[in-house]
Amino acid sequence: MSLDSKIPEGPIDQKWTKHKMDSKLINPANKRKFTVIVVGSGLAGGSAAASLSEMGYQVKCFCYQDSPRRAHSIAAQGGINAAKNYQNDGDSVNRLFYDTVKGGDFRSREANVHRLAEVSSNIIDQCTAQGVPFAREYGGLLDNRSFGGAQVSRTFYARGQTGQQLLIGCYQALQKEISKGGVEMHTRTEMMDVVLVDGHAKGIVVRNLVTGEISSHAADAVCLATGGYGNVFYLSTNAMGCNVTAAFKAYKRGAYIANPCYTQIHPTCIPVSGDYQSKLTLMSESLRNDGRIWVPVSKDDAEAIRDGNKKPEDIAEEDRDYYLERKYPSFGNLAPRDISSRAAKEVCDEGRGVASTGLGVYLDFKDAIERLGEDVIRARYGNLFQMYEKISGDNPYQTPMQIFPAVHYTMGGLWVDYNLQTTIPGLHCLGEANFSDHGANRLGASALMQGLADGYFVLPTTIANYLAGQKPGSINTKMDEFTQAEAIVKERIDKLININGTRTVDSFHKELGLLVWEQCGMARSKEGLEKALKRIPEIREEFWSTARIPGDADGVNTELEKAGRVADFLEFAEVMCTDALSREESCGGHFRLEYQFTEDSAEVKEGKTQPGEALRRDDEYAYVAAWEFNGVGIPPTLHKEDLEFENVHLAIRSYA
Ligand SMILES: Cc1cc2nc3c(=O)[nH]c(=O)nc-3n(C[C@H](O)[C@H](O)[C@H](O)COP(=O)(O)OP(=O)(O)OC[C@H]3O[C@@H](n4cnc5c(N)ncnc54)[C@H](O)[C@@H]3O)c2cc1C
Repeated sequence: MSLDSKIPEGPIDQKWTKHKMDSKLINPANKRKFTVIVVGSGLAGGSAAASLSEMGYQVKCFCYQDSPRRAHSIAAQGGINAAKNYQNDGDSVNRLFYDTVKGGDFRSREANVHRLAEVSSNIIDQCTAQGVPFAREYGGLLDNRSFGGAQVSRTFYARGQTGQQLLIGCYQALQKEISKGGVEMHTRTEMMDVVLVDGHAKGIVVRNLVTGEISSHAADAVCLATGGYGNVFYLSTNAMGCNVTAAFKAYKRGAYIANPCYTQIHPTCIPVSGDYQSKLTLMSESLRNDGRIWVPVSKDDAEAIRDGNKKPEDIAEEDRDYYLERKYPSFGNLAPRDISSRAAKEVCDEGRGVASTGLGVYLDFKDAIERLGEDVIRARYGNLFQMYEKISGDNPYQTPMQIFPAVHYTMGGLWVDYNLQTTIPGLHCLGEANFSDHGANRLGASALMQGLADGYFVLPTTIANYLAGQKPGSINTKMDEFTQAEAIVKERIDKLININGTRTVDSFHKELGLLVWEQCGMARSKEGLEKALKRIPEIREEFWSTARIPGDADGVNTELEKAGRVADFLEFAEVMCTDALSREESCGGHFRLEYQFTEDSAEVKEGKTQPGEALRRDDEYAYVAAWEFNGVGIPPTLHKEDLEFENVHLAIRSYA
């Protein structure tokens, strides 16, 4: 199948307007005849479900938590970007567009990114109207702060709880539609498969997580807003339940997965503290507005700190290396995440890391507290400081925080065209679950922007382009396709329950996670990826013969839920490593050790970049890699969507 991205014709700044004008309309009397399934009620799914219902469609919305309020979006801390230019510091739609394309290391689709930048302002208006309590300046205007990869302040925030406040706004809108009867909400319900009728997505099979019942739901279109797959790495900043299952089931039914190797490793997380940890904690990027990142200049000082013989306060100013400020003077501590993470790894690899493991750097607020006073810092970041102190036992007002990069976000996901439709007609995908607008690296505060752009503004317009060609209500769950899909789901659950082995599901997840972290994490190489690709099928085989899943399938069984998700990670990880192996370049979050600038590179000699920076190979790899499923353990087929850069010219990405 050839990939048609359906990018509208015309100048970049008119494409979305033109597309809205050219898009099909469904009249209000007909809208209510269409049913749309939305799987996911985080910011992307919740906003889509509420908006579609408000427009008159019948919506069925699903989530596995006990309330839409508990979607992982609630964890978002730092903020949401929008090109409002309230600060009058030179921001514009064009600048947000430019920053995002550059930030993504030139691996995103220009037309989508421009649309995102255009819609960004509407999101803030919508959320403010809902009552989201964005931080305000003294005069009453909404306040902004800066995030990585930008030299302007365009990030709107609600203290360190932006995701929570946005989700409450979105949830209110959803709840209004639920009580109006437009949205039928199914909580504690996990989607186990997509059902295709004549090649179109027309329903889903779900498991009730309380009773264990398997049932089907039919619709005229299906939308997946099921979040990211960062938990394939086991340790990540994602909520424990985040998984790849829904997207992966769609992949197995014919939806392509795009750029699965693009993972975002966030530079400011609390370092791993031991073998029995199951979760990592993010310290919001917003902290880099005021915190300065450093390690000791000398390995001896670093060693003394690690051994407990010195404290950070004992290191004199001239013996500190503020390495981001040194390497990237224009952006300093607000260099983008991929670059900041790699820089942290570099200084730790040199033996200058702090924390007992040597895998940590300092985030220091001493100067900011001296300059602004503790009260100001407390007002800006109080809840984050409190969280840090509770976890680490250190008071960050008095001593620097210790941080280290951790898996945080996934830029890869289901391939979608400009209408957010996957390669399966009728199956749409939004939010972090799609391959998104962030290319090879997402800029901070842009995920909330994208999820809400997709849900409030893009999908509600574009879905009509599909629905207008469909006969509403022509599908029902008595059709053979549903019976067959339910049988497949039941068979897989029986298989899991009947393994009757001795090894915990967690131990498999941990082994897989460590393997992909080492071979497909912050640095990748051909050798390491081949090693991972050999080992993953072995772990999978061991899982299916020795995993222990206690209990049965007829009620609440969280081990069974976890086992299904880990089984999918064990297949998905192979696609991720295959993608990483085939992309013989470094870009954004995908850093192949073989492809980096060296002292001898002409570009380094010309002063355009520095040794150790990612070496992109635009002639061969300026494409989206979309993978087609061929069977478990069989290499997937690669389809390429060539990327064209007409408005932001391909260049070495520099933040120096
Ligand atoms: C700690 C942290 C802080 C962050 N801070 C920021 C920030 O400040 N700014 C920013 O822009 N981004 C931030 N991000 C990223 C951002 O929060 C996420 O990318 C975004 O919230 C994802 O939203 P979503 O709606 O796509 O998915 P989610 O919020 O993950 O929602 C997924 C939904 O899908 C449902 N679901 C999943 N699978 C199934 C299934 N099989 N069956 C039924 N339902 C299913 C879930 O129940 C849930 O309702 C942060 C991320 C983390 C981890």
